[in-house]
Amino acid sequence: MKVPLLDLKPQYQLLKNEIDEAIQRVVDSQYFINGPDVAKLEEEISNYLNVKFSVGVSSGTDALLIALMALDIKPDDEIIVPTYSFFATAGVVARLNAKPVFTDIDPITFNIDPKDFERKITKKTKAVIPVHLFGQSAEMDEIISIAKKYNLFVIEDAAQAIGVQYKDGRFVGSIGDIGCFSFFPSKNLGGFGDAGIVTTNDENFYKKLKMLRMHGMEPKYYHKYIGGNFRIDTLQAAVLRVKLPHLDGWSAKRRENAKLYSQLFINKGLSEREGIINFNEKNKVLIPKPVYKDFELNVKNYHIYNQYVIRVEKRDQLWNFLKEKEIGCEVYYPVPFHRQECFTFLNEKDENFPHSNFAAENSLALPIYPELTFEQINYVVNCIEKFIQQN
Ligand SMILES: *Cc1c(COP(=O)(O)O)cnc(C)c1O
Repeated sequence: MKVPLLDLKPQYQLLKNEIDEAIQRVVDSQYFINGPDVAKLEEEISNYLNVKFSVGVSSGTDALLIALMALDIKPDDEIIVPTYSFFATAGVVARLNAKPVFTDIDPITFNIDPKDFERKITKKTKAVIPVHLFGQSAEMDEIISIAKKYNLFVIEDAAQAIGVQYKDGRFVGSIGDIGCFSFFPSKNLGGFGDAGIVTTNDENFYKKLKMLRMHGMEPKYYHKYIGGNFRIDTLQAAVLRVKLPHLDGWSAKRRENAKLYSQLFINKGLSEREGIINFNEKNKVLIPKPVYKDFELNVKNYHIYNQYVIRVEKRDQLWNFLKEKEIGCEVYYPVPFHRQECFTFLNEKDENFPHSNFAAENSLALPIYPELTFEQINYVVNCIEKFIQQN
């Protein structure tokens, strides 16, 4: 049985007529830059996330970059980021000649460890970028209160977490100073190419972000800031507007799939319960634990499982075994930032990041996309069971 890591075709088939119409509408108008679809997408995202302002941008990476530019980050400023994330979270800091300072992660949630964040603060620290990794909120209460104490900005990297509500009901991306989202095709809300959006409740940030997106220009050809071309394509905005109303349904299906995986692992005796962080006799597969109660109606914080990530010993062998069984998996992320060649100049000590190293060496993301069938999920778990019995 084939189980791809991700198959976007069923989602397109479902919405094909509407999406094709939306694309044709933009093509007919020949209005490819800005245009009404961009303004409407921004308004619809603001309403969805219950945030005052949204600015569509060219990618999730550019969302992070433009957010830091809006904070006026200068060379030698320090920005604290978890060492375990997609490269963009740290790359944007270094691209502005500021210094990324790494923290370890919480072993259960994979998100930034607030205590390590506080330890890494110096006089040069200007901001922190918590990442809501895999579709689960970082511990925002602690992060915001530490940031307030030291007068730091909070930029949320919500690239994998659109629609995630924190335990108090607020949407991630609306809690810190600026929220950053990606519409890369594999995210829960994906475009037909690169796109992203930044969100804020602060009108001054909003005005600056809008200008920075257009070379820091206002009025035309008068440049207040040195910005860039960070615009979202109108075609992307038109496609995303068709998909947005379906997002919650897709996320609910991902949660159901995650629940099924976890139950099957527990029923087969491969896992004892969620959120255990050491391998032992009973726990050969460490399964993800949503920090707050999940799967129940009316609970606020939930995990939207952009990825369902297990941790196993002999991860690379299992990955190869599953490849042979035509099951698509991926490792997010095999090399934390402090081990990246391009960051050796930072001289970070490997032993300061034990939980990130453990995750990098043992994590494996299983297929979790909404349209998976029971048979496919059952097949994945059976194959993993077979591998563990043989090893
Ligand atoms: C995808 C992603 C980004 C970057 O988004 P792009 O749209 O690919 O540029 C940034 N941070 C995280 C955590 C991501 O997963």
